[in-house]
Amino acid sequence: MKNVFIAGGGLAGLVSACLLAKKGVAVTLAERKTYPFHRVCGEYISNETIPFLKSNNLLPDLHLPQINQFQLTSVNGKSAELTLDLGGFGISRYTLDHFLYQQAISLGVNVLLNTEVEDIRFENEMFEIKTNHQTLQADVVLGAFGKRSRLDVKLHRDFIQARSPYAGIKYHIRTNHPSNTIALHNFKGGYCGISEVDGNKQTLCYLTHRNNLKQYGNIADMEKAVLYKNPFLKSIFENAEFLYVKPEVINEISFARKTPVTNHILMTGDSAGMITPLCGNGMAMAIHSAKIASELVLEFCNNRVTRTELEREYTHKWNALFARRLWAGRQIQKLFGAEWTSNLAVNLVGRVKPVAGWLVKQTHGDIF
Ligand SMILES: Cc1cc2nc3c(=O)[nH]c(=O)nc-3n(C[C@H](O)[C@H](O)[C@H](O)COP(=O)(O)OP(=O)(O)OC[C@H]3O[C@@H](n4cnc5c(N)ncnc54)[C@H](O)[C@@H]3O)c2cc1C
Repeated sequence: MKNVFIAGGGLAGLVSACLLAKKGVAVTLAERKTYPFHRVCGEYISNETIPFLKSNNLLPDLHLPQINQFQLTSVNGKSAELTLDLGGFGISRYTLDHFLYQQAISLGVNVLLNTEVEDIRFENEMFEIKTNHQTLQADVVLGAFGKRSRLDVKLHRDFIQARSPYAGIKYHIRTNHPSNTIALHNFKGGYCGISEVDGNKQTLCYLTHRNNLKQYGNIADMEKAVLYKNPFLKSIFENAEFLYVKPEVINEISFARKTPVTNHILMTGDSAGMITPLCGNGMAMAIHSAKIASELVLEFCNNRVTRTELEREYTHKWNALFARRLWAGRQIQKLFGAEWTSNLAVNLVGRVKPVAGWLVKQTHGDIF
C-alpha cells in the first residue's frame, strides 16, 4: 500500500486523513499548530454536509443549533429576511477540529503537531517533504494548508503574487440572537456574520477591506467608526458579552482563482480555491473536496488508476463541483459593503424572494 502525506490539519486535511486511514492507508498529517485552537471562521456549516459527516462519524454528538432563517441588513440598517431551503448548523471550529483530530488519532493517523511544512518536491514518482523538524517521503501529497501559506510561495502559485485587500476578524460573544437565524450585516467596506454555535454562544465574524483598518489604526476604533454606522451592529457591539480578551485576526484573504493540482499535489479546501465567506459554504466545500480527493487517492493506492488519471479525474471533479460556486460567490460579493448595493441586496431579499433563494442556491451544493 502506498503512503499519503497531508499538509495542514483544518477541515479538509483532517477529514481526508480520517477517510483514508479508515480504509487502511498509512497517513501522516502535519499541522503547524496544536489543537484545540480558535480560527477566523463564521462557523455556520451548510446542511449539505450532514449525511456524509454522520455516516462517517465525523460530527460530535452535541446539541447543535439548527439555522434556517437568514437576515440581511444594509449599511444604513435596512433589514430583510429569507427562509433558507437547505439551512445549516452552528459549531465552533475549536470544538469541531479538535473532535476530528481525536478521530484521526483513534484511526491511526500519524499526526505531527507544531510541524510546519516548508517545502514539497516531486521527483521519480515520490514526494520529498521538508518540515521544520524532519524530511519525509510519500507516494501522494494532499495540500490542505488553507487560504494562504508560505508553501504557496515555495510552490510558485500565481495567486500569491498579488496582494489581497481583505482581513477577517472573529469573536465569540453572548447576546440575544435567535438560535435559528444567521444574520449578515453590511458596513462600509465589509460585512459581518452572526450565528449561534455550541455552548450557548454566538460567533461574530467579519470581513473588512484593509483600508478601514489603515484609516482608523486599530480594530476597536475602526469598529466604532465604521461598523457602528449599521444600527444592528452598534446594538450587538454595545450589548454583547465578548468572550475573548482579543479577537482572532487574519490578513490577506484572497478569493483569486487557484488550481486544484499543483506540482502533482492534490489541493483540497481553501488551498484549491476559497469561496467568499458571505456564502457560508467554505467548510462544506473543504469537506466535500476532502471526500472526492480521498476516494480517488484510494483508487491510486490500490493501483486501480495511474497518477496521470488521478490528477486528471480530480481536476475534472473539482471543477464540476466547485468552479461555478466560487464564481457566483465573487459576483454576489459585489453587492456587499457599499450603501446603495447593500440596499439593493436587501430589497432583493425582501421583495423578490425566489430570485434571492436562487442566488443562495448558486453558492451551495447538493447533499452528499
Ligand atoms: C471571515 C471568514 C468567515 C468565514 N465564515 C464561514 C462560514 O460561516 N461558513 C463556512 O462554511 N465557511 C466560512 N469561512 C471559510 C472557511 O473558514 C474555510 O473555507 C475553511 O476553513 C477551509 O478549510 P481548510 O481545511 O481548507 O483550511 P483551514 O481550516 O484554514 O486549515 C488549514 C490548516 O493548515 C495549517 N497550515 C497552513 N500552512 C501550513 C504549513 N505550511 N504546514 C503545516 N500546516 C499548515 C493551518 O494552521 C490550518 O490549521 C469563512 C472564512 C473567513 C475568512
